[in-house]
Amino acid sequence: MSDFDIAVIGAGIVGTSAALWARMRGHRVVLIDPAPPGSGTSSGNACTLATYACLPVNDPSVLRDLPRLLFGRDSPLSVSWRHALPHPGWMLAFLANCRAARSRRIAGHLAALLAHADAGLNPLIEEAGARDLVVARGQLTVWSTAEAAREAEAGLALRRSLGVVAEELTGAEAKALEPGLALPVARAVLFPEARHVRDPEELVRRFHARFEALGGVTVRAAAREVRAMPDRVSVIAGVERIEAARAVIAAGAFSGRIAGAGAARMPLGTERGYHLLYAGEGQRLTRPVGWAEGGFYAVPMARGLRLAGTVEIAGLDAGPDPRRLDYIARRGAELLGPLPAHTSSWLDFRPTLPDALPVIGHSPASERILHAFGHQHLGLTLGGITGRIVADLVEGRRPNLPLDAFSPARRFY
Ligand SMILES: Cc1cc2nc3c(=O)[nH]c(=O)nc-3n(C[C@H](O)[C@H](O)[C@H](O)COP(=O)(O)OP(=O)(O)OC[C@H]3O[C@@H](n4cnc5c(N)ncnc54)[C@H](O)[C@@H]3O)c2cc1C
Repeated sequence: MSDFDIAVIGAGIVGTSAALWARMRGHRVVLIDPAPPGSGTSSGNACTLATYACLPVNDPSVLRDLPRLLFGRDSPLSVSWRHALPHPGWMLAFLANCRAARSRRIAGHLAALLAHADAGLNPLIEEAGARDLVVARGQLTVWSTAEAAREAEAGLALRRSLGVVAEELTGAEAKALEPGLALPVARAVLFPEARHVRDPEELVRRFHARFEALGGVTVRAAAREVRAMPDRVSVIAGVERIEAARAVIAAGAFSGRIAGAGAARMPLGTERGYHLLYAGEGQRLTRPVGWAEGGFYAVPMARGLRLAGTVEIAGLDAGPDPRRLDYIARRGAELLGPLPAHTSSWLDFRPTLPDALPVIGHSPASERILHAFGHQHLGLTLGGITGRIVADLVEGRRPNLPLDAFSPARRFY
């Protein structure tokens, strides 16, 4: 008999949620990560449980506006040609998924998964005693120009057709809700069902603490390789060899670097994102505010005011680009008025497939290996439901939602 029923590789929101779900159902689980739980991409995000965010970055407007997006000084999207030219595959597949019909289909699949997000996350929040970390005040999205406000119409109509509740506000109403806004507001929409987490890293830590309190085991080592055999898997992690009945690959943007797991065959890329933290400025807002044209959120959270977002296509190995941080600081001051110097900055790696859908399901390498990565802009929101689906799959149960769109065996463009 193997030492464990399930070895989960990666202790971000996705892996820790999977580990806790499986442990809550009585499985013997080991969680493997060289870093502290929740300290990767799951730590520095925009804190929003964004159940409304079914529109992918892949959108026909990206194709139309590509030159401006790529070369404009005020663009929330940037591409490093040094990275993109030697790796054209991901970028071309991403652009192919920007066609209108594809983009709409992706939105439908994301909406279907997002509809189950709370059912995956809320039981973990209860189990981990983390209700104090979650704030239910909705999310406010603002558009600052009349042209962008007009162009948002089709996306909002699509969201509503997919069941998203979106309340239209005038600029004055938006500013009455959030008096800290300094920007002219041409259009505002409140997504009242959204919530935010006061500290996403602390949320994962609480999940992990509960996992250990229930008898879950943690191994602090990097998994190098997964070897699948007919009756079990071996995970080679640091100097250890861990035997389990099944392995779950949940190492976020780094999942493809684990040999033998079949994840290297997926076109997993990364959309790098940044944040700036202004300690002591958290009282400027009461809920996350997204500035559509700016491509980032301003979020009041436990550590202060966090300005988080933007997309940079530059791979996993390049260091932070200070121009991206300047962009957020400059535009943050447009959104909220003068800000003091930021107290810290952060870069991390959204795990992203070119069709903006996560990979959740059995690896092509072996039925004993499950993939659970690629949650792009939505991992905090979707980690809980992904963990629940993974627990169902390892038990041979059929989850109560269709998974074909998230299959590792799908076409990615
Ligand atoms: C700027 C920004 C804003 C965002 N805002 C939001 C938001 O508001 N709402 C939302 O829902 N999502 C948001 N996201 C997305 C979200 O943060 C990610 O989708 C999510 O954190 C991914 O979680 P993960 O568990 O897959 O990866 P991670 O959190 O990166 O965890 C992966 C873990 O795997 C470990 N690992 C790596 N290699 C190995 C190995 N070989 N062996 C063992 N362990 C390994 C790492 O150490 C890490 O702990 C945002 C992202 C960014 C960058």
